[in-house]
Amino acid sequence: MDIRELAVEGWHRVVRVEDRESGLIGIISVHDATLGPGCGGCRMFPYASFAEALEDAKRLSRGMTFKNALAGIPFGGGKSVIIGDPRTDKSPELFRAFGRALNELNGLYYTAEDSGVSERDLEHTREVSRWVSGIGAKGKGGNPSPFTAHGVFRGIEAAARAKFGSAKLEGRCVAIVGVGAVGMALARRLNEAGAKLVVADINAAAVDEAVKAFSATPMSPEDAVGADVDIFSPCALGGAITAERVRRLKAKIVAGGANNQLATPAMDEAMRAADILYAPDYVINAGGVISVGLEILGTWDAADLTRRLDNIGVTLTRLFERAARENRPTGAVADEMAMDVLKRAAQAA
Ligand code: NAD
Repeated sequence: MDIRELAVEGWHRVVRVEDRESGLIGIISVHDATLGPGCGGCRMFPYASFAEALEDAKRLSRGMTFKNALAGIPFGGGKSVIIGDPRTDKSPELFRAFGRALNELNGLYYTAEDSGVSERDLEHTREVSRWVSGIGAKGKGGNPSPFTAHGVFRGIEAAARAKFGSAKLEGRCVAIVGVGAVGMALARRLNEAGAKLVVADINAAAVDEAVKAFSATPMSPEDAVGADVDIFSPCALGGAITAERVRRLKAKIVAGGANNQLATPAMDEAMRAADILYAPDYVINAGGVISVGLEILGTWDAADLTRRLDNIGVTLTRLFERAARENRPTGAVADEMAMDVLKRAAQAA
């Protein structure tokens, strides 16, 4: 195992890991460890270059610093990437080698699933390393998607209260783009609450399932952006909010489970200017990492987790109130609130 330190200004520790025998080449990036060890998933992707992989690892680990700080869990921001095609380059040995790389960091970083990496892959990592979470939880944690969806649902309620004066979702129209693990679970909650649903996905089978289960209206992803709804909920991949789409949105709220929803940072202010209330992605979608964090701490408990997931709505309400008072975009206020948490922790240390 070859572990090489990469000097990255502003990051706590970044290492390049390589194991010739298994073909592992990856990066483990810990952006900040003020609140505790870095915690965040491992992504496998066929990056075009090492530089591209490094940029992604840096960006994602920094995002986790902010997410974990506002989620109220004692973890810093970490993320790892494996360079390779998840369809063709996986092997048990590769994920065991990744586990040996984790061991070299000796607890500075805990990993979990992210795109391209499954629970099954991480079972191999766990054979050799204890710094893995979110798998094999035997009813105490495990797959984070339902918890993420629960938090997003509470976040949507908070946004509705702030924007429409009532958290009640009965009769409200919500367009969900991406009815995968998170989007489908969210659709179920919204349907139970009496909301009317528009659903869009590039996977026709997922759309059919939502149409049948929730009497949802199917639409193409592009049409869903301009749909006549109250709430637009991005639950697919990143970059859903572009300048052109902000102009087309009829929804007054953007609140969904996807990571990195803003195509550029300027979209934060663009939504404020368009009078659209944006629930910052890393605040509203923190439910999964909260469950993973509690698992790592060994304190996972269903009632405590539910309280923490419900609290995502409380955090967002505070955030919306502050943004309204200061007439500032919600994403900027979220970043500032997270920085405040880190500053207080650093002072207390
Ligand atoms: P998933 O793969 O189960 O679902 C994603 C869905 O989006 C799929 O049905 C896919 O077909 C669809 N999709 C992909 N590209 C699309 C496009 N261009 N237009 C419309 N639909 C498209 O993934 P997931 O676990 O549900 O995660 C969804 C999002 O939530 C991701 O951005 C993920 O990073 C984020 N997230 C997930 C969790 C979690 O607990 N799973 C936690 C935090 C954030």
